[in-house]
Amino acid sequence: MLIGIDLGTTNSLAACFQNGKVEIIPNRLGGSLTPSVVSVDENGQILVGETAREFGYLHPDRMARLFKRTMGTDKKYTLGEMTFSSEELSAFVLRSLKEDAETYLKEEVSEAIISVPAYFNDRQRRATKQAGELAGLNVSRIINEPTASAIAYGIGESGTSECCMVLDLGGGTFDVTVLEYYRNIMEVYAVAGDNVLGGEDFTMVLTEMFLNRIAADQKIMDLRTLSNIYKAAESCKREFSRKPVSLMSASVNGIIYEEKFSLSEYETACLGLLEKLRKPVEKALRDARITLNDLDRIILVGGATRLPLVRSYIQRMTGIYPEYSVDPDTAVAEGAALSCAMKERQEEIQEVILTDVCPFTLGTEVISGSGAFMEEGRYLPIIERNTVIPVSRSQTVCTAYDDQEWVRVKVLQGESRIAANNLKIGELSVEVPKGPRGQEAIEITYTYDINSLLEVEVRVVSTGLEKKIIIQDEENRISDQEAEERLQRLQYLKQNPREDEENVYALLKTERIYEEASGKDRTVIEEAAASFEETMRSGTRLDVAKKRQELLELLDSLEKGESARLLS
Ligand code: AMP
Repeated sequence: MLIGIDLGTTNSLAACFQNGKVEIIPNRLGGSLTPSVVSVDENGQILVGETAREFGYLHPDRMARLFKRTMGTDKKYTLGEMTFSSEELSAFVLRSLKEDAETYLKEEVSEAIISVPAYFNDRQRRATKQAGELAGLNVSRIINEPTASAIAYGIGESGTSECCMVLDLGGGTFDVTVLEYYRNIMEVYAVAGDNVLGGEDFTMVLTEMFLNRIAADQKIMDLRTLSNIYKAAESCKREFSRKPVSLMSASVNGIIYEEKFSLSEYETACLGLLEKLRKPVEKALRDARITLNDLDRIILVGGATRLPLVRSYIQRMTGIYPEYSVDPDTAVAEGAALSCAMKERQEEIQEVILTDVCPFTLGTEVISGSGAFMEEGRYLPIIERNTVIPVSRSQTVCTAYDDQEWVRVKVLQGESRIAANNLKIGELSVEVPKGPRGQEAIEITYTYDINSLLEVEVRVVSTGLEKKIIIQDEENRISDQEAEERLQRLQYLKQNPREDEENVYALLKTERIYEEASGKDRTVIEEAAASFEETMRSGTRLDVAKKRQELLELLDSLEKGESARLLS
């Protein structure tokens, strides 16, 4: 059996084409989205998805997420005693999806079509394919995410040519793709985006509105209170896709505050963010050498496009009514499943893939801030991921200390704000005249050419002294023997058995909520957990399921800030 997989940065999911329609495959916990998160527990067992995330709340050093961003790089993730590459971590997620699909379909799943962002280059595509193979899947095709979305929206069904813009606003990124369908060929004309704009920013706006209303100072708040307010803001934001008024309640220093917000005041507060959607759209149109008049359709995908204010802003900005009839969370997987059906009928849409983009952000390490708030180890992006190559960009930095004699420029690749989390691919130093901090300016220029050669040039502005290095992107191909060895190694590692996943998840969640709770709430959790554990030892499967459900409901209400006292 062949399935379609959306291997996402935050969530992944699988879909298949059966009985003439697309079916979303449920995972072992009954949901459709499996968080792209992997953890390793104390026994060396691999956890994936919601269970891994729950485990990671308590053991963040044993959890990895966002590894899609480093696909095809040498970045290694150390979880407890084990170390993995991004491909291997992705393979665990894929293996989990494969198992869920096999249970759902009651047959072996050996083949998959996996989606990747349109801006993924050849190396990242190969890494994705390899992850599939490590998971025991034959990856018969890699499909562009915007292409998959367009297929889910029926592009090409009419047989006529169509020019379409896909806007994907996820949790933390905004991707714009212009593509055209013509005679069974889907061509990506341009990609643009903003990798620091997404639904999370819209949640932050509500968090700040709430803090202003209750006149609380964010700086003196502990992390747990802030994270509770953030969670409350997230659910308040989601309410806006159903109602024009939304209520937000959160507990601060033992007092429960309830605040009502209207969609229109929220929209006003979000104007700055909404304006940020404009630039990538204009850039994509410019790069594709078309205007809005040439567009036939605008398609919205990604969870954050559920926000009514995002939809209406896009309509006002473009004058085109955007389409959002397909669930934005599942559109890509649905498109991938439809392309499975096409493949089986041998009537594939061919893709012209755009790969001449810089796949990762390239930058350097700096000290940022001023006065007492100097923060070391910050990342300064110089060439943003997804920039069409060849490209040359410069940034100027200053000396950070009095009487500094050398400036060391680390060449980094990656997306993290924290320099150390990115991959160091080179380094060079220049001598600067001594003087007070901030006096000497150094211009750093990165030039990335079509052959993936990165030239780094550093120039001291006052003396004109220059230094240069060239960093070559090594071919990341691995030998057949190495591939076989990796496969063996992963097969040896045990993934948590599917059957008891729901129980493991419930117990992990209990542990976290217990740590966060206090007083009477803790007693109530303890009693519910003890009763659940007892049932696990001696009860029937049905009893266990019932007790688990009760426990999870209790934990959910506590998580929402309702005290156990009020519940009982
Ligand atoms: P994705 O990365 O595509 O899964 O998108 C995740 C983002 O979508 C998160 O920032 C969510 O807060 C946001 N999101 C999900 N559902 C809704 C909703 N109903 N209304 C507003 N935003 C949502």
